Amino acid sequence: MSALTPSEIEILAVKLSKRREQLSAMIRAGTADAAHDSERLGPQVGDPGDESAALQQTDLNLTEVETELRELKAIDRAFERIKEGAYGYCIDCDCAIPYARLDAYPTAERCTECQTRHERMYGGRDTTPSL
Ligand SMILES: [Zn+2]
Repeated sequence: MSALTPSEIEILAVKLSKRREQLSAMIRAGTADAAHDSERLGPQVGDPGDESAALQQTDLNLTEVETELRELKAIDRAFERIKEGAYGYCIDCDCAIPYARLDAYPTAERCTECQTRHERMYGGRDTTPSL
């Protein structure tokens, strides 16, 4: 039951580390933005409408950062699995995840069927949608 060739894993590992760099940069920029927004808000804001709009903006940034952090964790887990030789196998049913799926979602931990079932159970908040 061998899913991926070493060179395929290599390609996916490069994708994962590039994505990790991208995410780290986005998280740094995102948290900087959020900090900047609340600074600018300050005590001089008179109109409460403006204030809540600015707060909503900050919330939005934080939500984005949370999503990015979640994906970053998924990438770390993927690297763990590469090290353990478990990468490319579904964590639920142990079957081999097709390379096409991993190519689209290198952080995929489940085969399409298990992912669909998982999303149905947990509301699809996973970072690796089913193909
Ligand atoms: Zn599965």
